[in-house]
Amino acid sequence: MAKTEFKAESKRLLELMINSIYSQKEIFLRELMSNASDAIDKIYYRALTDDALTFDNDQYYIKVTPDKENRTLKISDTGIGMTKDEMEDNLGVIAKSGSLAFKNETELQVGHDIIGQFGVGFYSSFMVADQVTVISKALDSNEAYKWESEGTDGYTIEPYEKETVGTDIILKIKDNGEEENYDDFLEEQGLKTVIKKYSDFIRYPIKMDVTVQQPKEDEEDEYEEYQEEQTVNNMVPIWKKNKSELTDEDYENFYAEKRYGFDKPLKHIHINVDGSIRYDAILFIPESAPPDYYTADFEKGLELYSSGVLIMNKSADLLPDYFGFVKGMVDSEDLSLNISREMLQHDRQLKTIAKNIKNKIKSNLKTMLNNDRENYEKFYKAFGRQLKFGVYNDFGMNKDDLQDLLMFYSSTEKKLVTLDEYVSRMPEDQTYIYYASGDNYDKIDKLPQTELVADKGYEILYFTEEVDEFAIKMLMNYKEKEFKSVSSSDLDIENEDDNTEEEEKENKEVFAAMKEAIADKVTDVRASKRLKSHPVVLASDGEISIEMEKVLQSMPN
Ligand code: ADP
Ligand code: MG
Repeated sequence: MAKTEFKAESKRLLELMINSIYSQKEIFLRELMSNASDAIDKIYYRALTDDALTFDNDQYYIKVTPDKENRTLKISDTGIGMTKDEMEDNLGVIAKSGSLAFKNETELQVGHDIIGQFGVGFYSSFMVADQVTVISKALDSNEAYKWESEGTDGYTIEPYEKETVGTDIILKIKDNGEEENYDDFLEEQGLKTVIKKYSDFIRYPIKMDVTVQQPKEDEEDEYEEYQEEQTVNNMVPIWKKNKSELTDEDYENFYAEKRYGFDKPLKHIHINVDGSIRYDAILFIPESAPPDYYTADFEKGLELYSSGVLIMNKSADLLPDYFGFVKGMVDSEDLSLNISREMLQHDRQLKTIAKNIKNKIKSNLKTMLNNDRENYEKFYKAFGRQLKFGVYNDFGMNKDDLQDLLMFYSSTEKKLVTLDEYVSRMPEDQTYIYYASGDNYDKIDKLPQTELVADKGYEILYFTEEVDEFAIKMLMNYKEKEFKSVSSSDLDIENEDDNTEEEEKENKEVFAAMKEAIADKVTDVRASKRLKSHPVVLASDGEISIEMEKVLQSMPN
């Protein structure tokens, strides 16, 4: 039979396709599942307007059948099928998408679930197959046809026998090469894994005959094996379900199933947005930081789905660094993807979603802080440092997002308090938010610098992490109250029964001698208004506190 050659452009494109568009071979299965799902969708949409056609759920499915001996993989669907002309048009011309045309033609505003649009996905089959055969019978047609191709040379089309409407695609899986192994695409387990990974939430059942082992009755240690048809995919993703139908346990199971973490999530955030950009998301605040969290190895990101099909494992752009601990996924119908569907074409939609998500995380953390303090403190123990780094790293640019979420240990409350709590109970005569830095709470308690401030009845925030003071420097103030280190020289507090001036005069020579003795360590020795029971205190002029100086000096240049 005469072979129809692919058009020259198509030929080159096909070579390019097979060799370079996709980063992983296994995605051919995602593309074929998506096409089959699109084909069933088309019948579904037809049934909405055509009274003669009913859509009976049981009738519509995808079936995957590997044949190890013959090295073939068959993928059948009961979708709308293709006529001979459609085979010519859609399979014979690369980059022609019947699905895109369908979406554009349909007057119903419903086609947006259909995944296809570039007209190249089908050809990804040639990454794993030497030969591809498509047998199809279209709805409203009495004839079936067989399309066959071995890749770049071209294809043949001939009449064929097929009873039912729909499409069978038979791939002749390549032999293993020195480096390439294709056997996974012939094995139950390998196929199941790939289907679950990319196509778990295709809305129609993806069926497979699976080998089941069962203990034989009355006989110990003896098993019988039989084949059982199973549905491999979940179909309805949890994020499309109604929140009211879901329990905490459902979300926890999803978290574990997805291996977002080995802990239990502290909180889940389920978002359904139906605005100018539509998306669904399930986000989790983990309970503890993974071991690599505060290292350079950690990669933040959310899973990104397009209409239920996984596009990216970790889309970093969806999360700001300071909320990098958040796990979860986003699914949207409104993303414009690039041709391999591995990247986004415009990041405008993604930016909108990211901004939206950021605000949701922020408001959920605030709610947790206000209503579920115990869990918030657990969260803060794990990720508080991240929030403080967040304030510091972007030069305070994100302080509006973060400052209300910060907590510090308080001298008077003996527990973590928020800046808002601190400011709201400041006595009227107090000008500053006071803080003291040190290695731990005990050491700070004993600092002479804290005595006078505490005596005044002012609360002091204890900074025990290096980042604390740096973050606060970026904030500069909170609710118009400036931060002040208890070791700075202008504390705005005086010891009332003080007679520094006299002391200064009386001890002039002693101070001069002291200053000379430690001239390389201090700039001045003075009588202080800030001492009560302690004989001496270190103070620093200017912006940098003694503790910060220590950190700065210990940092590698
Ligand atoms: P896309 O899905 O982006 O349109 P593909 O290369 O995956 O591109 O498929 C090309 C076209 O072939 C589809 O748009 C569709 O018209 C047709 N097609 C592919 N697979 C099937 C199928 N299983 N049933 C019916 N039509 C199909
Ligand atoms: Mg496709």
